[in-house]
Amino acid sequence: FKVPQPVNEPVKSYKPGSPEREELKKKLAELKSKQIEIPLIIGGEEIKTGNTEEIRIPHNHSHVLGVYHKAGKKEVEMAIDAALEARKQWSAMPWEHRVSVFLKIAELLSGPWRATINAATMLGQSKTVHQAEIDSAAELVDFYRFNSYYMAELMKDQPISPTGMWNRIEYRPLEGYIFAVTPFNFTSIAGNLPTAPAIVGNVSLWKPASSAVYSAYWLMKLFEEAGLPKGVINFVPGSGGQVGTPAMTNPNLAGIHFTGSTEVFQNMWKLISDNLKNMKNYPRIVGETGGKDFIFAHNSADVDALVVAALRGAFEYQGQKCSAASRMYVPKSIWKEFKEKYVNEVSKIKMGDVEDFTNFMSAVIDKGAFETITGYIKYAKESKEAEIITGGNFDDSKGYFIEPTTIVTTNPKFKTMQEEIFGPVLTIYVYDDNKLDETLQLCDETSPYGLTGAIFAQDRKAIVKMSDALRNAAGNFYINDKPTGAVVGQQPFGGGRASGTNDKAGSAMNILRWMTARTIKETF
Ligand code: GLU
Repeated sequence: FKVPQPVNEPVKSYKPGSPEREELKKKLAELKSKQIEIPLIIGGEEIKTGNTEEIRIPHNHSHVLGVYHKAGKKEVEMAIDAALEARKQWSAMPWEHRVSVFLKIAELLSGPWRATINAATMLGQSKTVHQAEIDSAAELVDFYRFNSYYMAELMKDQPISPTGMWNRIEYRPLEGYIFAVTPFNFTSIAGNLPTAPAIVGNVSLWKPASSAVYSAYWLMKLFEEAGLPKGVINFVPGSGGQVGTPAMTNPNLAGIHFTGSTEVFQNMWKLISDNLKNMKNYPRIVGETGGKDFIFAHNSADVDALVVAALRGAFEYQGQKCSAASRMYVPKSIWKEFKEKYVNEVSKIKMGDVEDFTNFMSAVIDKGAFETITGYIKYAKESKEAEIITGGNFDDSKGYFIEPTTIVTTNPKFKTMQEEIFGPVLTIYVYDDNKLDETLQLCDETSPYGLTGAIFAQDRKAIVKMSDALRNAAGNFYINDKPTGAVVGQQPFGGGRASGTNDKAGSAMNILRWMTARTIKETF
């Protein structure tokens, strides 16, 4: 069989009067009007542990959306048993039937479930309508359709067979279960990490970020409606230690699919390496972590395009993308023009409740994030090496709001040029046009990460030079575009260095990690 050739899901506009807008408004009102109680879901059974946590709207934190139950060691062990039990049938099922489940999930998400998942993402994670639409609708539908296609294509790869024998490769799911740990910032990543392995026939335990349990739960309900067999994905929200330790020290751990912080990822490697002797297999560890993503402008750059890229790259979804532009290099010769246009555009940014569809930004995810981000802003305010040219104010009385903040520094290694902030803060270093080579080297060396980066130039020789100098600095490298917004099937996503294992989400490279193979030689 051949899986239907996928095309990217079109992004809806939500224009006033459009049917999608009406439907979404209704769904937002409906979700806000009732508080829900979110259980664990293990082997298809709902389990309430009584150890609960409240879920609040980040841009209106007095509003409680519900509570979720947290898993502990006992429930994780139950989830491992349920997953291994489900694996027996799921892994033996002809692949086209597994794929059909995911194509159905894509169909439901593209149609009747779109408003629910978008509304849950907007309320639970404070995403504006457009940011929710490109994430929890379009990108997630793409993941299901493209991953299904890639899996089927990969399985066609077979060795050669000289006469007298038949060599073949049997592609199998990994032996054991996958532990998927997902972030708050993309519902699409949350929906992809436990399912990409499942398409290949694996089973998983899914620990969503505590700050995004709400949309994750609605995704579980969608999987259920599409007929995903019980136990294939087991939903175990909870704390990293309570859930992570038992999930990662069991001998049946076959792999980790992770997006989150560098520190947590490094601790996971350590925990697994300490327990390696007990493991049946070497777990496949796939992870995408932090970034300190750059925009580097040459003096031949189109300044208007640069302004748009800086603003959108740094401030869409409040800068809470691993790919967000957070440091920038601008040559002196275009600085004045850039600054004037940029400051003017940033001053027009509207920020507030996501239910006002004209807002470009909303709140950051929670109190902890608010404190970390504003700590960096305070640090810059007190420094002689920095000047704040946009924003700089913040207010958490109603929601966790931070203005789009731009710092200009005279020190290319200033703290906010080096450390990941994960918020709406862009730091700019203005360099001498004659020092292009040195500044490129600085850009390469300033951060330990290697996730995304963008260069802006019209001069082709400069483009070649810059691409070469920054060859390892970004796994997703953009020429004359912002460093965010990778599209499945178009720009496979991921980076190296401290940013992860670079097993490109939304590509065959990622799917291959969830397969193992038996090579068979039969002699005639
Ligand atoms: N894929 C997203 C982008 O290109 C970023 C994913 C992330 O933040 O982890 O903007």
